[in-house]
Amino acid sequence: MVHSPLLDEERRGLVDDVRRFALEELADPGYADREEGGEFWHEGWRKCAAKGLCGLPVPQELGGAGADRVTTAAALEALGYGCVDAGLVFSINAHLWSAVVPLWRHGSDDQRERFLPRLARGEVVGLHAMTEPDSGSDAFALRTVAEPDGAGHVLRGRKTLITNTPVARLYIVFARAPATEGALGVSAFLVEAGAAGVSTGEPTEKMGLRTSPMADLVLDDVYVGPEAVLGKPGRGARVFASSMEWERLLIMAAQLGALDRALEEEVAAARHSKRSAFGLEPNNDVLVDVRVALDAARALLYETAWSYDHGETRASRAAAVKLFASETVLRAALDMSDGRRLRDAVGGRLYSGTSQLMRRIVARDLGL
Ligand SMILES: Cc1cc2nc3c(=O)[nH]c(=O)nc-3n(C[C@H](O)[C@H](O)[C@H](O)COP(=O)(O)OP(=O)(O)OC[C@H]3O[C@@H](n4cnc5c(N)ncnc54)[C@H](O)[C@@H]3O)c2cc1C
Repeated sequence: MVHSPLLDEERRGLVDDVRRFALEELADPGYADREEGGEFWHEGWRKCAAKGLCGLPVPQELGGAGADRVTTAAALEALGYGCVDAGLVFSINAHLWSAVVPLWRHGSDDQRERFLPRLARGEVVGLHAMTEPDSGSDAFALRTVAEPDGAGHVLRGRKTLITNTPVARLYIVFARAPATEGALGVSAFLVEAGAAGVSTGEPTEKMGLRTSPMADLVLDDVYVGPEAVLGKPGRGARVFASSMEWERLLIMAAQLGALDRALEEEVAAARHSKRSAFGLEPNNDVLVDVRVALDAARALLYETAWSYDHGETRASRAAAVKLFASETVLRAALDMSDGRRLRDAVGGRLYSGTSQLMRRIVARDLGL
């Protein structure tokens, strides 16, 4: 694993420390069984939380690690490099981008004080619930309703494909005012697990990232007070958009780290074997192509993260990182005939917006 040239000495030390931690502390011999059973690794989560990985970009005074985006990307890359449990790493990502960051960026002082330190320290797992049975890419076609009730609201609806549902204690739920359409009228609400009317579906069976738990979230007349609205009422689209921009920029960092490790292992194996099991020359071109694509994806990730750190934010750039990195990881798993990595990589075409959606965002920016 090579450091990004954008990291200074101090930040390289931090990243090396995360890599050492992941290789030593997260080398879990029980992974294969948990993967088969689709079991979340609570102990691994607690270890990552104690290392500060559940609140990486949040300022230290608010309970986080105070890392800029470049450092956050590098720390997550190091985590992915060292930790074989891709589902655990995915759950940490979902927690960071869909709960921690929105609370930090959009929470009121009271909301931050109440929830952010525990989220950032990983004592509470978070999620956001946008997708519904009839709305995915067209996210703002959502039907979950927030009916005004006194000063508060009553939430009613069903969310599906929600990462972390079985283990999360704090949900950010997107719901619309009655008789509204599209993005207008959608608000983000903070809902705590165990609130009256909240229930979760059966765990969702997934082909990959199986140790990252997922389930439907059902809201059956859930009353929330006025203090539950995150951001401005009716402006949930802003909360969602900023959350997605962080996510699209950074969610693939860990998977690039995991691919780097896999490639190193493949290269080492190819060096020692002149002939493959089929009596053929090992296909070195595949490994070369993966190396080049991985380096290109890392360069795009770090350059874009650096631009964001320096105030140059552009949603289409974050979308380009997500698109290129997820397609790189998927193609590499295919080309290296790595079954488990392939199953883990397929979801990258869907979560945080599909590859087609990322292309549409970039196309818009090109004036197409
Ligand atoms: C591992 C994983 C974790 C997830 N975690 C969460 C979570 O925590 N919270 C949450 O809210 N959601 C989550 N999701 C849901 C995810 O956001 C949706 O799967 C995604 O938005 C796509 O929606 P969909 O599955 O309904 O597919 P659809 O939107 O129905 O798309 C199906 C296909 O049609 C294509 N398509 C759709 N519309 C267009 C168009 N206009 N132009 C061109 N092509 C189009 C899509 O690209 C895709 O290939 C997760 C999904 C996965 C796989």
